[in-house]
Amino acid sequence: MEHITEIARMRDVVKGWKMQGLSVGLVPTMGFLHEGHQSLIDAARKQNDKVAVSIFVNPMQFGPNEDYEAYPRDMKKDLAICEQAGADAVFAPTAAEMYPIKNNVYVDVNELGDSLCGAARPGHFRGVCTVVAKLFHIVTPDKAYFGEKDAQQLAIIKRMVSDLNFGLEIVPCPIIREKSSLAMSSRNTYLSEAEKEAALVIPKSLESAKRALLQGERNAETIKRLITGMIEKEPLAKINYVEVADALNLKPVSDIIKPVLVAAAVYIGKTRLIDNFTFREV
Ligand code: AMP
Repeated sequence: MEHITEIARMRDVVKGWKMQGLSVGLVPTMGFLHEGHQSLIDAARKQNDKVAVSIFVNPMQFGPNEDYEAYPRDMKKDLAICEQAGADAVFAPTAAEMYPIKNNVYVDVNELGDSLCGAARPGHFRGVCTVVAKLFHIVTPDKAYFGEKDAQQLAIIKRMVSDLNFGLEIVPCPIIREKSSLAMSSRNTYLSEAEKEAALVIPKSLESAKRALLQGERNAETIKRLITGMIEKEPLAKINYVEVADALNLKPVSDIIKPVLVAAAVYIGKTRLIDNFTFREV
């Protein structure tokens, strides 16, 4: 496995692969890898001749008061995980390599980015789309792997690929959870033991919502109240948003008559965590 930091070298390596007629899978990450990331690498490994994992904490997608500086980083451990998972290359550029000068041109997103995390984090998805577009241009993968944990990101990237004619396939991968049912996240490392325990209210409240939906509840307000009611009982938790949105356009719905994304963003102490599920049985 090669550890690559320069764009030019990454391009050369991919060129070599393509000249041999090999297919390329890309797994874009911000590092501090866990089993959620590993599941993406495993899927890429199964479906492609060569796998590149990118590790880049993208400053453009962090707001001024967010955790860009504090975001956990451990390149040595990440490289070992990638090697073990069978990646062929890790592309880990510096911010200066990716953004030598301030961008004048961005990839921006319209309505799909207005709700949920987009409403809570202005400019976030512009940063995500811009960096993912750059990674797609640099690595030119046949397939790229994204987790359903970041459901809005997945929907936006799929749409970017179709709107802007990127000739590649986006492969969605299911949410990987701790034994406790907490969705795995690099940010879980910020949590104290008490906060980890408190954070379980997020998957538990979503599970209750899923049960209510399976029992026939179709009123979005009732579903949201069920989730918020449970989370508000947890003293360490503060809701950022709880939403029931159309699974395709991500606009909030009132009656559940089509597949919906049920999503929550919750602060546990200072740590913002997200989780979701999609309910399709309507
Ligand atoms: P991140 O490093 O947090 O930017 O995530 C990189 C990729 O891994 C994104 O496509 C995420 O959706 C995905 N991912 C992160 N956590 C999980 C998880 N628990 N299960 C599945 N995919 C995940």
